[in-house]
Amino acid sequence: VHAGRPRENQRAAVAHRGAVSTSSASPRPHHRGRFAPSPSGPLHAGSLVAALGSWLDARAHGGRWLVRIEDVDETRCEYGADEIILGQLAICGLVSDETPLYQSRRTPAYEDALAQLAVVGLVYPCGCSRREIEEVLITLGFLQERHDERVYPGTCRQGLGGKPARAMRVLTSMGEQDITISWTDRRLGRQRQNLTREVGDFVLKRADGLFAYQLAVVVDDAHQAVTHIVRGEDLADNTPRQLHLQRLLDLPTPSYLHTPLVMGINGHKLSKQNGATPLDVSSPVEALQQAARVLDLPRIEALSVSEWLAAATRAWATRWVS
Ligand code: GLU
Repeated sequence: VHAGRPRENQRAAVAHRGAVSTSSASPRPHHRGRFAPSPSGPLHAGSLVAALGSWLDARAHGGRWLVRIEDVDETRCEYGADEIILGQLAICGLVSDETPLYQSRRTPAYEDALAQLAVVGLVYPCGCSRREIEEVLITLGFLQERHDERVYPGTCRQGLGGKPARAMRVLTSMGEQDITISWTDRRLGRQRQNLTREVGDFVLKRADGLFAYQLAVVVDDAHQAVTHIVRGEDLADNTPRQLHLQRLLDLPTPSYLHTPLVMGINGHKLSKQNGATPLDVSSPVEALQQAARVLDLPRIEALSVSEWLAAATRAWATRWVS
């Protein structure tokens, strides 16, 4: 393994060219939260939990709350879903404090971040197909399953061996040394993941030319100066990959709180893929009430959405603001 570790000064010089700028003309309040839905369909009951949790956290801290439309994976987007989501949120009283940011308009920033890593040899082109990766893992007697992903065996680290480049991967080891990421989630407590063995060099730019969620989310959280991330627990095991990228790109690391998931009747996380029905916002206080129950907040009797949100903010503050 020839993982070219950048010298600190090289890395800093690259970072200070400002490829991923977080500067702004106006001062920003300290606490900035966000909700980052993928517009693959309308919100469902599970996504409202993350939206509400992040909104309450921002409000309880006197901070700002942003909505980012994560339409980076255009193959999964449904036309008009962004407007539907923003409408559902608005009915529940959750309105972005700034104009929503669309990842589909952020490609140059992702290109810059990738170039920044390439300059210091932290990314490399990969020519392996999914099938080839699987074959290598079987040969090694090491077929590990992580959702539908595989731990990349590092085949193209030494070069493409004549194959055409398909994707770009980031190194997840320092020379021969594993990288283990430790972090503290506000709800889940201490967490730890050996990135080298449990994830492997992961894709930042896909074979179809699209940027991967992992890179886009890190670049955009920094660009929007997000300080506090509240999102569903299904994303908790992505966090070490994001912390790794933040470190490589010299970006600040926000704090994380992963919220409980809403399970469907089949015992799986509610998601559009397994047939979650769109969130019913015909009685928004009731929808909020159900999301609040998942967040373990007390039941709030309120007649209007704004009254309900004000009371829920106080309940959140008691629990999560120190
Ligand atoms: N766009 C992701 C999703 O809808 C969420 C990303 C995040 O909160 O970091 O699952």
